Amino acid sequence: MAELRGDLEQIVGGTHVLTDPDVVAGYVTDWTGNWHGHTAAVVRPANTDEVSRVLARCHRAGVAVVPQGGNTGLVGGSVPLHGEVVLSTARLNRIEEVDALGCTLAAGAGVRVADAQRAAAGHGLALGVDLASRESATLGGIVATNAGGIAFVKHGNTRAQVLGLEAVLADGRVLTRWAALPKDNIGYDLPGLLTGSEGTLAVITRVLLRLVFPAQATATVLVGVDDAGAALSLRDAILEAGLTLEAAELMTDDGLDLVCAEKDLRYPFDDRAAYTVLLEVSGPDDPEGSLVEVLARCAGVVDGTVEKGHAERLWHYRESHTESAASSSVTPVLKLDISVPVREIGGFLAELPELLRADHPGIRPLNFGHFADGNIHVNLLDVPPEQREEVTDAVFRLVAQYQGSISAEHGIGRAKNPWIGLGRSPVDLAMMAAIRHAFDPAGILNPHVLRFD
Ligand SMILES: Cc1cc2nc3c(=O)[nH]c(=O)nc-3n(C[C@H](O)[C@H](O)[C@H](O)COP(=O)(O)OP(=O)(O)OC[C@H]3O[C@@H](n4cnc5c(N)ncnc54)[C@H](O)[C@@H]3O)c2cc1C
Repeated sequence: MAELRGDLEQIVGGTHVLTDPDVVAGYVTDWTGNWHGHTAAVVRPANTDEVSRVLARCHRAGVAVVPQGGNTGLVGGSVPLHGEVVLSTARLNRIEEVDALGCTLAAGAGVRVADAQRAAAGHGLALGVDLASRESATLGGIVATNAGGIAFVKHGNTRAQVLGLEAVLADGRVLTRWAALPKDNIGYDLPGLLTGSEGTLAVITRVLLRLVFPAQATATVLVGVDDAGAALSLRDAILEAGLTLEAAELMTDDGLDLVCAEKDLRYPFDDRAAYTVLLEVSGPDDPEGSLVEVLARCAGVVDGTVEKGHAERLWHYRESHTESAASSSVTPVLKLDISVPVREIGGFLAELPELLRADHPGIRPLNFGHFADGNIHVNLLDVPPEQREEVTDAVFRLVAQYQGSISAEHGIGRAKNPWIGLGRSPVDLAMMAAIRHAFDPAGILNPHVLRFD
């Protein structure tokens, strides 16, 4: 290992091979605090060539490597639990070009999402992906996890934004697909395959993303509704009125109470409602006025607050959920990001607390999510460590009964490996294992993540 470290220092420079336990501490623990590991070294290459040489050297030594971006992933995929070398993309942080005419952004994989958003905004454009971890999560990270987020309802997932990638294979070879062509059908979609591969097929070093035009006139509403059906009817009424949905988020009454307590916020309505929906819409004329009209004729609406533009004040209720869950729970929050068919959201949200109450009365569920996509972030608070597996199993089996997915947008990582068979058939798993073997026959890239056996 000493010889390997020396060679890595030769490649990236001595100050960019980190071994001091205090310095590497932030690289070996994940955002949730659930996953703690250790590493032989954290290596911070500055460009694709250095990444290539680092990987070639580790490959020769048979040493496993965990790629890491902002370390905001929520399934334990970005930390070295078995002493792997961490390859941090922190220094691949250059925004190379915003092409305002072609509507593209070219950047290093270590560029933070918020920095890319600001660069696009400087040219009157926007990134098609947005998520609450934007100030830390990286472009390489959102590609590697195929992140969804709050703009999914309008622009789709990260895969829909990827035009090209540069990536380094496990043995150091560089794979480049870099054409700003929305239409390009030569063979297999390798950038699409690397998107969502969670650091198991290659290390992404540069990304070429499409940009979108931001909505000009928007309005935001926070509205209390009687049930999940009313939330969906409201969504439909908004679309029928010719408005465009920019975001559609659902919160439960318990969750809102918890956020209000943790963040010292006022409960937003005079009357209580079973669910609170946050919708951001855009439209050509007066979206705020149109929203008020839609709300007035929708059944099941208890109370609501409409504001012009992207109302940070209203968004604060939704975006504080993750942090509030973490600060309120006495044990690390058990985060199970799932999806169910949209028509089943109400049934699932009603059945889940009952299931927990029966067998685990001390556990507090905090459910919220991007409801127009059927995506619910199940957050379970105060789960005793020895019950985590059993509780996860019970929730995932309920998801499977509802024909849902055990991973809507966060990936499989380490956290969901044991349940991957609930969502994919044996043939499907065998094909994915074969693809992984083709990219990385020695099995050095994130070997404990996204396992198919
Ligand atoms: C407050 C909060 C809100 C969030 N909201 C959302 C949300 O709405 N939607 C959503 O989808 N996710 C969300 N997340 C999860 C997380 O932010 C995303 O998964 C994000 O894409 C991770 O980016 P990262 O740079 O932090 O990646 P990391 O956490 O560092 O890594 C995640 C995975 O990608 C791999 N990886 C990272 N960079 C590379 C690379 N360059 N090449 C190859 N593999 C790489 C890692 O090995 C790991 O498996 C949220 C997280 C937090 C903390």
